[in-house]
Amino acid sequence: MKKVEITAKGTNYAATNIGLLNELSQHVFTLAPGIDIPGRVFIGNDLGNTGSEVSFVTTPAGLGGDFLHTHKTNEEVYIVLSGNGQFQVDGEFFDISEGSVVRVSQNGKRAYKNTGNTDLVMICIQTKADSLKDLGITDGVILEEPVKW
Ligand code: ZN
Repeated sequence: MKKVEITAKGTNYAATNIGLLNELSQHVFTLAPGIDIPGRVFIGNDLGNTGSEVSFVTTPAGLGGDFLHTHKTNEEVYIVLSGNGQFQVDGEFFDISEGSVVRVSQNGKRAYKNTGNTDLVMICIQTKADSLKDLGITDGVILEEPVKW
């Protein structure tokens, strides 16, 4: 089983490397004792995230779509990095492919499956619904101090 590597860490940051995307299936997420999910890696805890959870998920060709789920308080954004699939939310279906980005509210009954011939690779970001006050760059603060490399 592959491990998440912390590559840098300081007072105000952490960096990690999950490895190559085509080796994601070597990660195994243990949902419960005896229930292991290959190809899923959560990195929020490793990074020390306080406002979001980030996971990578790879679904082999022909798999996925086994169950619907909702969330208690978090909305999710799925970012498709490669592959082709079908997504469903509340019984409505749509195709996804590289470049697709899907937001699902916490109450949306969701599932996805790989409909292509290659791995469906996605990033999933969970954030607490209705927690974001500023979108875009309005939360950023440009500093006066010069950048040193
Ligand atoms: Zn979810």
